[in-house]
Amino acid sequence: MNQPSIVRTSTAELYDAYVMKNYSRAPITVVRGRGTQLWDDAGHSYLDFTSGIAVCALGHCHPHWVAAIQRQAAELIHVSNLYRHPNQGELARRIVGYAGPGRVFFCNSGGEADEGMIKLARLHGLKKAGGVEEKCYKIIAAKNAFHGRMFGGMSATPQEKIQKGFRPLVPGFAFGELNNLESFAALIDEGTAAILLETIQGESGINSCTPEFLRGVRQLCDQHNLLLLLDEVQCGIGRTGKFYAFEHAGVRPDAIAMAKGLGGGMPIGAIWAGERAMELFQPGNHGTTFGGTPLACAAGLATLDVIEREGLIDHVAKVSVAWHQALAGLAQQFPQHIAAVRGKGFLVGMQMTSDPAPWIAALRERGLLTVGSGNNVIRLLPPLIATADELARSVEIIRGALQAKA
Ligand SMILES: *Cc1c(COP(=O)(O)O)cnc(C)c1O
Repeated sequence: MNQPSIVRTSTAELYDAYVMKNYSRAPITVVRGRGTQLWDDAGHSYLDFTSGIAVCALGHCHPHWVAAIQRQAAELIHVSNLYRHPNQGELARRIVGYAGPGRVFFCNSGGEADEGMIKLARLHGLKKAGGVEEKCYKIIAAKNAFHGRMFGGMSATPQEKIQKGFRPLVPGFAFGELNNLESFAALIDEGTAAILLETIQGESGINSCTPEFLRGVRQLCDQHNLLLLLDEVQCGIGRTGKFYAFEHAGVRPDAIAMAKGLGGGMPIGAIWAGERAMELFQPGNHGTTFGGTPLACAAGLATLDVIEREGLIDHVAKVSVAWHQALAGLAQQFPQHIAAVRGKGFLVGMQMTSDPAPWIAALRERGLLTVGSGNNVIRLLPPLIATADELARSVEIIRGALQAKA
């Protein structure tokens, strides 16, 4: 039998046939976004409290950001790092304005930013060891950390589900208990080059470094000539109600990895390095073809423009207070389902008493998109533009799902 070959294939079928199977995706196909809203191909709308995993800081398709990308796309998209481009210079200046005196390296993702910071630690160790390689290269990270899927970052991510199957890992990583300064101090020896931390652990259930712990780690690093490397890929760029989450503790790291929110949806990553680390990269010892393209940097500049003009960081700090209170109220009302609510600003984790996957599905069916974190946490990541009304709406949707189950 000859069938006519005009078979319409659904997106679901295309994924089943052609896309690698490393994700268990939600069964919706998203086709359009505006502000805090997403629409699927069946016409359902959703309040998007994933922000593409803390990426779409300005929500979807903010007009200033779209116009900046359109303008730059028609002018020049890519030149490589063989040449200068005004946008990269300007975005570096803006980041230094937030982070402090230093220099910036641009890449394309959080994983690459972490990878670059790990290489900075190696070069710092080399200097400490008087230029002798393989003497001083150890990095102390935290249990339950997440530093991306590349070999360096994965080796700094002591989670079986992430490392399994990929050994041997990069050597030289040791792990302390988050917020237990003694456990970090005990791991330091003359072979240690750096301490690497997420200011707030995003993938393992929203666990924050306490300000005292961060200040203690800063002191340890000063005493032992270690670099303090902070992974702000998820918690940075305004999400916690400060530009960087470490500002809440009043410390300054030696290097910062950032990515997710920086481009507002355009892939871009960056490392800022302060005085002790900013001269370690020299011609030839690190690089990237795509890092810091005119287009990605235009998106980054537009994102920072909007964050500043619309006062989004203060907005997050302000409206998150009542939201956190309302979520804590839900935890009180439904202790059989919610074990704890924690986080800062627009980076919130709701720890459930059971597998969060059915809850995430139930919330999606009620029009609220959220994302899991760790084994038992529902993560809420509104775009920084989310209004008090939209935050309140999220609480009512969650309440509805809890009541339906109660
Ligand atoms: C997402 C994330 C990464 C990895 O970023 P990618 O862009 O997915 O490579 C690294 N560190 C932290 C803290 C993250 O949240």
